[in-house]
Amino acid sequence: PLILGLESSCDDSAAALLRGREVLASVVKGQADLHAGFGGVVPEIAARAHAERLDLCVEEALAEAGVTLRNVDAIAVTSGPGLIGGVLSGVMLAKGLATGLGVPLVGVNHLAGHALTPRLTDDLAYPYLMLLVSGGHCQFLIVRGADDFTRLGGTIDDAPGEAFDKTARLLGLPQPGGPSVETTAREGDDKRFRFPRPLLDRPGCDLSFSGLKTALLRQRDQLIAEQGGLRRQDVADLCAGFQAAVRDVLALKARRAIAAYLEEAPAEPALAVAGGVAANQTLRDALQTVCSETGLRFTAPPLSLCTDNAAMIAYAGGALLASGVTHDMTLSARPRWPLDKQAAPLVGSGK
Ligand code: ATP
Ligand code: FE
Repeated sequence: PLILGLESSCDDSAAALLRGREVLASVVKGQADLHAGFGGVVPEIAARAHAERLDLCVEEALAEAGVTLRNVDAIAVTSGPGLIGGVLSGVMLAKGLATGLGVPLVGVNHLAGHALTPRLTDDLAYPYLMLLVSGGHCQFLIVRGADDFTRLGGTIDDAPGEAFDKTARLLGLPQPGGPSVETTAREGDDKRFRFPRPLLDRPGCDLSFSGLKTALLRQRDQLIAEQGGLRRQDVADLCAGFQAAVRDVLALKARRAIAAYLEEAPAEPALAVAGGVAANQTLRDALQTVCSETGLRFTAPPLSLCTDNAAMIAYAGGALLASGVTHDMTLSARPRWPLDKQAAPLVGSGK
């Protein structure tokens, strides 16, 4: 079936057309320009922009795929979690389209979209381990099916992407912070400054990143106080030290998540990453090493599918439809929507 996916949960308006695993079109309209200068995404501005741009995304996607609305067999839409105004824009458009076309409607959890993406481009068997690491999220999940996830742990404060962005801001580097910090760190010495490795002594897979931000701020201010400013090498060394700390924390917690996952004796053990921070090569190398040591296959979708997009929503929606899930006009927008229904089991031995 031809599935139209819609995404509007944060600051990207997106529409995509998918047939099976073939992405016929994927249009993403970002809003960075609209929120620049506010120090974050402004919910009111985002909601309005989604309302104005989503139908343009749909039109462009149809044109790109060379199909018309009449060819669409089902509508999949992000119905949470996210900023409520944006999610509502998408859900209302989806309901209108589904009613008008007389096709099924399915609401998709945005996080499920990210978590299922590796199966869109790779033959990945369930259950696989997923590290979802982005601007707003950081969690380890065992993915057992399109609607079956176990959360092993996650950040108790900031997401790593957020920390990269903050680091860039504090050091006068351009946004988004991830790529600029990574590039700058290449010329840096990651051992010159001491950064904490938060929660390493705590059992399980929970993570924390706010302390890294504080450590960076303190070291920056100390340098400025001592020498009246930051030298190019100081900035590079701070970036390298910060990035190494993020890498180490994620790699160590990945080992714990892998141990818990392997207890289930999966037939084809694999770790997949998704989310914008998965673009970081230092992190990828570290995760690849952990996987080689523990006998897992490591896989990461292409970056265009790692960051927010509607192809992943169409894909997850298609998987739900295939298992018989559809929604009616009572589909609601959920600002909060944790992926797993049960409490996470206790995992990790604190090694
Ligand atoms: P979410 O998907 O959780 O709602 P989001 O849409 O902000 O949040 P993404 O679009 O998945 O997140 O990712 C954007 C984040 O990824 C930004 O914080 C950015 O700094 C970070 N990022 C991008 N490239 C890199 C990189 N090479 N290294 C580290 N971080 C990166
Ligand atoms: Fe996202």
